[in-house]
Amino acid sequence: MEVRRPPRRVTFRGLDGERVTSTYRDPARNKRVGGVSNSFHMQKDARGNALGRDSTPPPGMSMSAYAAQLRRLNPDKDVINEGDHVHMEPKGR
Ligand SMILES: [Zn+2]
Repeated sequence: MEVRRPPRRVTFRGLDGERVTSTYRDPARNKRVGGVSNSFHMQKDARGNALGRDSTPPPGMSMSAYAAQLRRLNPDKDVINEGDHVHMEPKGR
């Protein structure tokens, strides 16, 4: 198994009015919600912040418009529109 050193610090930029619905998940919870086994939600940076973040847009904003905004704000992240939320994680790991 590949061993990765945790990044020193991962920060996510969001929008006013958004709702962050999931950050860190322990393995049991990750399994319950159907997360992939190598989920970024189960990994933390050196400061203890989760490497995965799920969120939903401010009232009145579409999911695709929200994802586009988050992409602009987080050029170093993979920003994925999951339909009912937007998932972010560090790029290229
Ligand atoms: Zn996620």
